[in-house]
Amino acid sequence: MLLSQTSENDADSLMRALLVPSPVGGVYARTGLFERVVEGLAFFISRLRDPETEVLRFPPVMSRTELERSGYLHSFPHLLGGVSCLKGSEATIRAVVEQPDWVEELSATELVLSPAACYPVYPLVASRGPLPASGVVVDVASDCFRHESTCEIGRFQSFRMREFVCLGTPDQVLDFRSRWLLLGQRVAKQLGLDHRIAPASDPFFGRAGRLAAMSQLEQSLKFELLIALRSEEEPTACMSFNCHRDHFSTVWPLRTGNGDKAHTGCVAFGMDRLVLALFKTHGLDLAKWPAGVREHLSI
Ligand code: ATP
Ligand code: ZN
Ligand code: MG
Repeated sequence: MLLSQTSENDADSLMRALLVPSPVGGVYARTGLFERVVEGLAFFISRLRDPETEVLRFPPVMSRTELERSGYLHSFPHLLGGVSCLKGSEATIRAVVEQPDWVEELSATELVLSPAACYPVYPLVASRGPLPASGVVVDVASDCFRHESTCEIGRFQSFRMREFVCLGTPDQVLDFRSRWLLLGQRVAKQLGLDHRIAPASDPFFGRAGRLAAMSQLEQSLKFELLIALRSEEEPTACMSFNCHRDHFSTVWPLRTGNGDKAHTGCVAFGMDRLVLALFKTHGLDLAKWPAGVREHLSI
């Protein structure tokens, strides 16, 4: 009992030192100390990029139509956030905002908040025509939003995701994922983070979702790199290694050079979770972090 109270307090004081709460749970301002490590980590990940990788940085919003077509509403409607605005003449809008229930008058726009950094990549690459024989790897990042139902340490509503996305033949995608499963563990080791890899499934919605999650596990489509951020018993996913098979080429005309449906996969880094794990492991005083870790993070 005493032990779990202590670790709860540790987690609380870690959060207080690094993140400034807002009136909304799971939404924080980040301190300079926290951001220094986020920047170092981003740079460290960039150095792992293959030379021919294309780099794209997305804004925190994306096309609603594209996200609908990708099947997100079927799989994760409970996590989605949309962008809504007031429409009409100046007089109409003025009258609306003077009412206490002005929120009822909001209407959807063509934008949603990106729930993961990689969604905009698939239609974008598909629009360029067939893939080159070597496949395509894209380095993407964006602020992401998920309407999470809890806000324990490491579970934010707004957080940063960095990903490498591979589009190619089934073999190219499987090779990419196997390579990143090893590289991800090497990254964690170089940063002094205790971790383990585990098969995983996505938080699919509803009863049909539970079947989708089981089939994802059976087919080994998702692995996570877990770190004991909140507790040893319930470790936190700080990276994920995903294989989508032909899901995105069923939705978008993504084809390999010989006209076959392309496969896709991605490796995702939860930047805020990884940085919390670094502070939890090495403490709040950067000067006391192991020299090797500081060197990798350029701090
Ligand atoms: P979880 O298992 O924690 O619900 P997830 O499996 O839904 O996460 P992915 O969709 O694989 O997560 O997202 C890629 C990475 O983004 C995760 O491994 C994690 O590091 C990070 N991430 C996901 N959701 C959050 C969140 N709510 N807050 C902070 N980071 C997150
Ligand atoms: Zn992805
Ligand atoms: Mg998960």
